[in-house]
Amino acid sequence: DAHVAKRAFLETNKAPSSKALSEIINLDHGDPTMYERYWQQMGDKTTVVIPGWKFISYFSDVRNLCWFLEPEFANAVIRLHKLVGNAVTEKPLYCGRTGSTQLFQAVLYAVSPPNASEPISVVSAAPFYSSYPLITEFLKSGLYKWAGDAHKFKKDQPYIELVTSPNNPDGLSREAVVNQNEGILIHDLAYYWPQYTSISSSPADHDIMLFTVSKSTGHAGTRLGWALVKDQEIAKKMTEFIVLSTIGVSKESQLRAAKILQVLSDTHEQKAHFRENEPFFDHSYNLMAKRWKQLRDAVRNSKLFSLPEFAHGKCAFSGRTFASQPAFAWLKCEGETEDCESFLRDHKILTRSGKHFGESTKYVRISVLPRDEVFDQFTERLSSITST
Ligand code: PMP
Repeated sequence: DAHVAKRAFLETNKAPSSKALSEIINLDHGDPTMYERYWQQMGDKTTVVIPGWKFISYFSDVRNLCWFLEPEFANAVIRLHKLVGNAVTEKPLYCGRTGSTQLFQAVLYAVSPPNASEPISVVSAAPFYSSYPLITEFLKSGLYKWAGDAHKFKKDQPYIELVTSPNNPDGLSREAVVNQNEGILIHDLAYYWPQYTSISSSPADHDIMLFTVSKSTGHAGTRLGWALVKDQEIAKKMTEFIVLSTIGVSKESQLRAAKILQVLSDTHEQKAHFRENEPFFDHSYNLMAKRWKQLRDAVRNSKLFSLPEFAHGKCAFSGRTFASQPAFAWLKCEGETEDCESFLRDHKILTRSGKHFGESTKYVRISVLPRDEVFDQFTERLSSITST
């Protein structure tokens, strides 16, 4: 048991248990299994039962421009944004989607000029989410092309800038960096939730905002997210893209996500019904705070690494003043080590190299969202690495 091993290690201050040293710890992907325990403790409160006759039709709401959007899911999304105050939901339209790849491509398709003489440039400030260049390039579209680090984009031409805030991999809050008139901005707010960062007193109000259940509730397997889009024409083109690629989005997925989001809101708004369950964002905030403390302690013990520092901010949702505690740790190997990924791999810790994010190999990205025992094992091992 990792807890027992950890206690023994701390008490004796000797070498960690052989298990802690021998097992491969995979923190390459941001698989949010940390959230499993919370939802398990909910018991049947989030169970969804779907009779066989339900959801036969392709259609969900034919009056909506996005006709495959289940009203129950849309309402649960609006309710959650209102509760948290992280995004304006007054005017925009909502579109469900299957995974980030599809939604992201739908947006690129929708905002790219259809008849331009050359593909429009897609940029994002380094370090950027490693999937952006891959998703942008993999269909070899004639509409758009990956043009790399937004800091280096100097052309006087139309462009699309992806603004991820808080950012994956480094957790920093961000704004657009190119700032030319011809730019189209896409805000990826996957991590703009109060367990990771403080929510500003004015809700985000950008033209195109992307969210996902993966990093808010932890339900990555549901493969569902949504876009808040102000411009009807863009929303129409996104719908067209999703219709042509998958003729809509699974209703089972939307219904399950709706239930989870409703219960999440209930844990905050109807506390009396949830005596045994902490409100979701209190629980997840506390867990992230604990993990970041544990991680910073391990980094301090080891002396071979460093982590970004975050400014404190007052969260308009919780009233707490705190420094960001992101879903990923952007760890730097200090000193001589040039390839941090292979250095950690030698210690059986799998991470993603900075090079995939348009940055130096001295950095790696590490998921802070695995199950408890994996995270404990990881911090224990990290603090025991004291020489190169
Ligand atoms: N945007 C960012 C910045 C992400 O890090 C992720 C998940 N890694 C996503 C979007 C979307 O994830 P999903 O496809 O699970 O919805």
